[in-house]
Amino acid sequence: MSELAPASNFLRHKIEADLLAQRWSARRWSGKPGPAPDQASAPLDPARVRTRFPPEPNGYLHIGHAKSICLNFGLAREFGGVCHLRLDDTNPTKEEQEYVDAIVEAVHWLGFDWSAFEQTHLYYASDYFETLYAFAEALIHAGFAYVDSQTAEEMRQRRGTLTEAGTPSPWRDRPATESLHLLREMRAGAHAEGSHVLRARIDMSSPNLNLRDPVLYRIRHASHHRTGNAWCIYPMYDYAHPISDALENITHSICTLEFEDHRPLYDWLLERLADLGLLARPVPEQSEFARLNLTGTLTSKRKLQGLVQSKVVTGWDDPRMPTLVGLRRRGYTPSAIRLFCERIGVARADSWIDPFVLEQSLRDDLDPSAGRATAVLDPIRLILDNWPADQFDPCFAPIHPHHPERGQRAFGFGRELWIERDDFAAEPPKGFFRLSPGARVRLRYGHVVECTGWEAGPDGRPTVVRANVLPDSKSGTPGADQYKVKGNIHWLPIDAPSAEIRLYEPLFTDPNPGARDDWLAVINPSSLQQREARVEASAAACYPEERFQFERHGYFVADRCDHRPGQPVFNRIVALKDSKAR
Ligand code: ATP
Ligand code: MG
Repeated sequence: MSELAPASNFLRHKIEADLLAQRWSARRWSGKPGPAPDQASAPLDPARVRTRFPPEPNGYLHIGHAKSICLNFGLAREFGGVCHLRLDDTNPTKEEQEYVDAIVEAVHWLGFDWSAFEQTHLYYASDYFETLYAFAEALIHAGFAYVDSQTAEEMRQRRGTLTEAGTPSPWRDRPATESLHLLREMRAGAHAEGSHVLRARIDMSSPNLNLRDPVLYRIRHASHHRTGNAWCIYPMYDYAHPISDALENITHSICTLEFEDHRPLYDWLLERLADLGLLARPVPEQSEFARLNLTGTLTSKRKLQGLVQSKVVTGWDDPRMPTLVGLRRRGYTPSAIRLFCERIGVARADSWIDPFVLEQSLRDDLDPSAGRATAVLDPIRLILDNWPADQFDPCFAPIHPHHPERGQRAFGFGRELWIERDDFAAEPPKGFFRLSPGARVRLRYGHVVECTGWEAGPDGRPTVVRANVLPDSKSGTPGADQYKVKGNIHWLPIDAPSAEIRLYEPLFTDPNPGARDDWLAVINPSSLQQREARVEASAAACYPEERFQFERHGYFVADRCDHRPGQPVFNRIVALKDSKAR
């Protein structure tokens, strides 16, 4: 596996400096997440750092998430810590168990694990609902939160703008006892959605809009995929997220840049709760990095869901999808994706990555390991008129050119063979070095043949090419190089099994489909091309998810859903060379 040594980045530097300063070394860990009083008498935390990957289970993970997974799990592993997998399931209406299961499977598949120090660190934000609620009451008591009974529209009007301060709500100074009473009623289901919210009391004139008394809780009479109907008030992300981090003893809370403006709120909340003795110090610290943008690709669960719902693709795991299940089905290896994430690095400036970088990571990952095999796409018959019908000459090719110990593949060279339609031209254009009437080519690992003619099918296209074998021309035998030929084409014996080959192009014709409202209008009509093929018998008999380099065509995988013995189906992962470089 060709993984790079970890490159230096600002987050590694920060963690190194924090460790050197023993910034986190006095933290205690009772063995499970909890508020300060539960941790106070516990032993020291065995994890030197704790990071977390906190997806919302509202869809399948995509390549952008892979960057965050590799970063968070990678840093934890590197520095003797642990990365928690936390399902950030605080929004009941969009979340489902199906997505939870898919997320757990995808992170495992990528090669990461959340067990460490004899514990499994798989957590659900919804498990903290009771604590989050208790903290909310404490904030009200301390004067840091109040129930606001304005309508959403009134709140919006009083919020102010980037240049104008907001106006305090008429309910901002209602007594804590009244707020408490209302919050309890809200929890008990006594109020309609939208009638009240709980807000932090911070600063309505802050230049940072996130600090203008942000909403902490709202009423939602909705059933939750884990807590059922136990709750009808649900915490906002900006409230639940920092507290979940703190309860889990997270040291470095790493997120994408769009949360930079939320950091003051993150810090405000945790400091207030630490002042109240509910959270232990030092509290977690948020750092931001630039999200992954991949040219020509959507990286938003919501938009990917749109593709699934509109049936543009066959599902979340369609091989054209940038989801991890899609990339897996396409044939990407976990190590190629990890290599990609290491190569793109981590920075604080937004940038766009060309999909070439991902494709090249797959080539670099598979080249040393993938067995070579032959596939003839769009096969047509080659009949060798001067070769006896009952004669079969075994030809050999290495399974891997750099690993002779892996042995050889054998093909029977006989009178009838399959060659690729594109390797024959009845009227060859200039510079065409493959088969055409009168031309000579080498049949790879076999003999040199000279084309004598061809026959057309009903549609006028060639179905049979005729040729003669030149004497003493077999590859690797003495005198074979007396024939100087410019072309070298691949072939298969006539009894080679047939297979379906799926070739892919980018799903979108626009380099930034995510920036458009009508991204369904820029779907590439040739994003999937199904081709008839013949393949080597050993490849046809492989297991789903086995990978090969089909010579001249690229890297392929046996489709994990549709490939069966007797009905082989291969997906092209990537071509051998970058199409733009050719
Ligand atoms: P989406 O819009 O696809 O739902 P999200 O950020 O809302 O993305 P979450 O489930 O909240 O999805 O994301 C979990 C983690 O993955 C977050 O910490 C988020 O910052 C990170 N993440 C999401 N997209 C990217 C990306 N394109 N590049 C890097 N990290 C990402
Ligand atoms: Mg989200």
